[in-house]
Amino acid sequence: MSNNPIKQLTSPMEIAACAGESVSKFFADADGLKGQKRRMANWEAKQICHRCPLMKPCLRYALQTNQVFGVWGGKTEAERAQLQQVRKLIFPGGR
Ligand code: SF4
Repeated sequence: MSNNPIKQLTSPMEIAACAGESVSKFFADADGLKGQKRRMANWEAKQICHRCPLMKPCLRYALQTNQVFGVWGGKTEAERAQLQQVRKLIFPGGR
């Protein structure tokens, strides 16, 4: 058996930094928060994402599956929409 604790884990959720965090922190938009409260929740969620080892695959998944709500991979829904627009400009045929 490996001595590397990460290799002994069985689920990505065991290493996700958001495991055990409040879901509403990541889905302030779906919860209907607005203004400063929404910005604060998004900021807190993004701080958690930025220390998560799954940040890149999480963002990739959100983009590939067109997740409409929430902070995924350190990006809000508005930031992901901007990334999708850039992606369409670079790869107009879709990729
Ligand atoms: S990057 Fe994804 S898995 Fe990691 S903390 Fe953020 S939302 Fe959770």
